[in-house]
Amino acid sequence: MSAASRIWTTIDFERNGKHTDYLRLPFSSDTSAYGWLPIPLICIRNGAGPTVLLTAGNHGDEYEGQIALIKLAQEIKASDVNGRILILPALNYPAVAAGRRVSPIDEGNLNRLFPGRFDGSPTEMLAHYIDNVLFPMTDLVIDLHSGGRSLEYLPLALARPGLTVDNQRSVRELLTAFGAPVSVLTDGDGGGGATTLYAAAEKRGIPALTTELGGGATLSPVGLGVAEEGVRRVLKHYGIVPNLDVEMSATSRFMRSLGRNVAIYAPENGLFEPLAKVGDMVEEGQPAGILYFYDNPLRESLKLFFPANGMVSCRRFPTLSARGDCLYNLMSDIEI
Ligand code: ZN
Repeated sequence: MSAASRIWTTIDFERNGKHTDYLRLPFSSDTSAYGWLPIPLICIRNGAGPTVLLTAGNHGDEYEGQIALIKLAQEIKASDVNGRILILPALNYPAVAAGRRVSPIDEGNLNRLFPGRFDGSPTEMLAHYIDNVLFPMTDLVIDLHSGGRSLEYLPLALARPGLTVDNQRSVRELLTAFGAPVSVLTDGDGGGGATTLYAAAEKRGIPALTTELGGGATLSPVGLGVAEEGVRRVLKHYGIVPNLDVEMSATSRFMRSLGRNVAIYAPENGLFEPLAKVGDMVEEGQPAGILYFYDNPLRESLKLFFPANGMVSCRRFPTLSARGDCLYNLMSDIEI
């Protein structure tokens, strides 16, 4: 789907300086026949150099990235920059404004709709614009996520491994430069697979990194710090903002997601009592949690066990659980 996007903006991406406007996403409704949905965009450009695309609010109820990018957009001056920084801190704006994972306009989950459609729903049109208009001008992508209301995550960075040897190398360089406490390689098989923003970037050969920085639809101060420092290290490492004041010597523990085959999903509806925390090292056979049956209190509660050795990367945040809900994901160390 490469037909021209209907989304427009007053920003001239080639102009030097710090400019702000919106991606103007046409949306015709009862109350606004010729209106558009406003997706805030800041473009900071100064001469030649790489372009980095920084996004948050892809899921609206994930906050560390949104705040980190608002702070960064306020701080960076055009004269600090070599190249171009595109900042979208509230990417799926209707979802951000509603405090939801998905857009209330069309129930669109932006990170499950790539590569999008030029003539699709508003969220599909947005995915198409990112893939067809923004990606072709972009050299690096950072899409900041957290667990949202249904998950609690250990603060970490993630990337897909890359489709070519060159791409694999550039992805490792980006993860190393970001310097999250933990860097995870994943194919996203327990999440969005090939439909995510960072998977779409990988398809175009652009080094792309995403994060998980906390969760529960609240702000983790630790996660916010990981986002702020990581983005700053990347901007400095690639020479885009060479004079940033940030500690560059962060070391990252490289791990891989163990995927959906060793994730734990609720086998039935119930109340979930977790017995492990994010960041815990667990062993195969270790008790993971207990499911209590609120609709049949005298029925024996169900013990769940970890199916493999690993570190807990995330756990379900709400107690009320239904069959199919992800309760735990695991990851393990890799050699680099
Ligand atoms: Zn997310």
